[in-house]
Amino acid sequence: MKTKLSLLKREGLATADDLRGRLPGEDDKKRGPYAVIECFEEIPCNPCVVSCRFNAILPFKDINDLPYVDFSACTGCAVCARVCPGLAIFIVDESMDGDMGTITLPYEYLPLPEKGWQVLARARDGSALFPATVVRVMKGGKGKTALVSLEVPKEYLQEVRSFTVPEEEDSVPCSCAELDLAEESPTVCRCEGVDLQEIRDLIARGYKTVDEIKHRSRAGMGPCQGRSCRQIILSELARDAGVSLEEFEAGSFRPPTTPVSMDVLAKGSEEDAENS
Ligand code: SF4
Ligand code: SF4
Repeated sequence: MKTKLSLLKREGLATADDLRGRLPGEDDKKRGPYAVIECFEEIPCNPCVVSCRFNAILPFKDINDLPYVDFSACTGCAVCARVCPGLAIFIVDESMDGDMGTITLPYEYLPLPEKGWQVLARARDGSALFPATVVRVMKGGKGKTALVSLEVPKEYLQEVRSFTVPEEEDSVPCSCAELDLAEESPTVCRCEGVDLQEIRDLIARGYKTVDEIKHRSRAGMGPCQGRSCRQIILSELARDAGVSLEEFEAGSFRPPTTPVSMDVLAKGSEEDAENS
């Protein structure tokens, strides 16, 4: 008998069930900021684990393991959030007195907001929650994701997972022309350490598809499988071809995969395998 796929598997939205074991107890919440890792896909990726100098992410036995935080060791330093290619790590601080706390979110759009800006806090499914004030901005670049901290009521700290800048509702992932303004040669693929200049050099040398660039530079071949860099490479190719991104014919795209057991291959879906 087939069972209904979970919301996480159908739409990528984590529920309270999915977050069980990923949030600290009351004592750890009071100690200071902590990392909430919403990474649920068993893909070969571990920058969070190797970047944490406090060993606060439980060691992996296998590269496909999922990360879990040891909240007694986590300082909320946010180093893991800066290097996570899946943008899956959030830093929550509810240790202060009063009703307000902070949520620190990875942010890959331009313009990067500034301290004091009012933005629109949004839930996991993108729905608007309420206006929130930016209280801290850590710029990105050199393989690190920008982080933006918002002040929000404590009861919403596990609800807010993104935001938009109201004046920039149409904002899109940074185009390379904008990235040029942000830094000399920004990193395009954080997983493999490929920067914008390298991509442009390859295009100038005649590499004209995402796959060609991927195979030559390794951009898009890291743990996140192009989730962060593919769009930027496409926009560079489109710009080179003199067409819009929509008009540009995209190459093949293989999204992140997860290991599939022989049981599933033999019996059909994971649900079939589980229920047989
Ligand atoms: S926030 Fe800092 S201490 Fe906590 S898990 Fe991430 S890197 Fe480790
Ligand atoms: S996607 Fe982020 S949270 Fe998940 S394993 Fe990779 S670095 Fe860690």
